[in-house]
Amino acid sequence: MTGKLVIALALLLPASARAQDWAVHSLERPRPPVVDPGPARPPAPPPSDALVLFDGRDLAAWQNDSGAPAPWRVVDGAMVVVPGSGGIKTRQALGDVQLHIEWRTPAPPTDEGQDRGNSGVFLMGFYEVQVLDSYRSDTYADGQASAIYGQYPPLVNATRPPGEWQTYDIVFHRPRFAADGTVSQPARMTVLLNGVLVQDAVALQGRTAHRTRAQYQPHEDALPLMLQDHGAPVQFRNIWARPLSK
Ligand code: MG
Repeated sequence: MTGKLVIALALLLPASARAQDWAVHSLERPRPPVVDPGPARPPAPPPSDALVLFDGRDLAAWQNDSGAPAPWRVVDGAMVVVPGSGGIKTRQALGDVQLHIEWRTPAPPTDEGQDRGNSGVFLMGFYEVQVLDSYRSDTYADGQASAIYGQYPPLVNATRPPGEWQTYDIVFHRPRFAADGTVSQPARMTVLLNGVLVQDAVALQGRTAHRTRAQYQPHEDALPLMLQDHGAPVQFRNIWARPLSK
């Protein structure tokens, strides 16, 4: 099939089908247009009903994969990935949720592509919104910052330079599984990066995966939020969640 025909067909198909037209991590997949998100804003204070997961003081709301205290550091009000220590997850399990989280990648940047400030925000531990330095740094479209990893590139690239704080505002609806384990409703995700819409209620194809097509496996209705250790000292701050009614 010619490239033009693929593009013409893609325009006729719903978004959920379009993602399947591309091989996972295809380097041919177009990179989203760059958008300047405008000046940085002050950190957003949590709403009164928010579950505060990190307020700059300590990692009490977090643990490692074995349930031991989270091994990351807290420096100047930010939590910092300790490379090699593993990902950390919330003690609180979450299902449908509104999530606010701020992150910044190291400056000056080191390495390239997927090794440049990589981390990730994993809803329910399975569904990753990519964290990466994608400011004037190329990688495959479905793996850049604010991609649903391996599935959906962001609508636009609204990243700030490395070393600057960036915000994610995420609305996540967990998948629903029938009694026989089949998917009755896929997970849905809306993401704003630095106030700019980058994922518009996309239907996830399954658990995010590396170099393989996503698939669903049934799981609980609420699970911890996980932050990834991908070997870079990425920082996070001002993390809060609003669990949504079912
Ligand atoms: Mg990642």
